[in-house]
Amino acid sequence: MKITRHKKVHKYLNFYVNNYKFRTPFQVLIDGTFCFAALKEKVDIQDQLPKYFQQETKLLTTPCVIMETESLGPQTYGAMLIAKKFAVHKCSHEKHPTTGSKCLRSMIKNNNPSRYIIATQDRDLQEKVRNRAGVPLLYLHGKVPTLDPPSQASKNEAQHQLDKVDLNVHQRETLAELKQSSGLATEEETKMKKKKRKGGPNPLSCKKKQKKTSVNNTKTSGKVRKRRKAKIPSHVKEMLKTSQNSNQ
Ligand SMILES: [Zn+2]
Repeated sequence: MKITRHKKVHKYLNFYVNNYKFRTPFQVLIDGTFCFAALKEKVDIQDQLPKYFQQETKLLTTPCVIMETESLGPQTYGAMLIAKKFAVHKCSHEKHPTTGSKCLRSMIKNNNPSRYIIATQDRDLQEKVRNRAGVPLLYLHGKVPTLDPPSQASKNEAQHQLDKVDLNVHQRETLAELKQSSGLATEEETKMKKKKRKGGPNPLSCKKKQKKTSVNNTKTSGKVRKRRKAKIPSHVKEMLKTSQNSNQ
């Protein structure tokens, strides 16, 4: 697998870790269409997905997804066998099973509290996932697992959360750094940062020079000491004198 692809996945996952509290093991919630595509493309997703994420990964499905693959008969028999390999997370349709699509949407409602990554080939479900903030989307592009870049809805909500906080100057600087690292910085901000780096003087080099001159001064130490003595304000001197006199 190419290094650039890993970098992208790492960057996208970081976005969800930084902005939506995602943690390892990453939980991938898989539907029937994803299993069907994996079978068709002969991809062992149980083996490939942890390699793709390069992180501990848990593959999951729901009772509704399994029932849906069962109900579609021989055509989806293979997909059903794949789906049954995964851990099953309870959904809210115990009494009234629903479609895989509806079930998965119910699993991510109220801001995706279980931090699921949705794995689906269903275009309609993909669009619905993209419209919700904080839900990563995974699909197979041919044989290749592909994590969708964070959607506009996810970026907007993350930005909104950051804007809510009242900040001082130091905090604003830290925030700018955070934005860069979590991929939220606008193009303008990125450009400004690069310009700053190029143009501004390196503060460390300035400090070093100052140190050198002070070292030279201490070598001809007499002058420096005299100058420091001269800095004692006259009224303090007076006070010292009077206190000495009164002690005598
Ligand atoms: Zn369900």
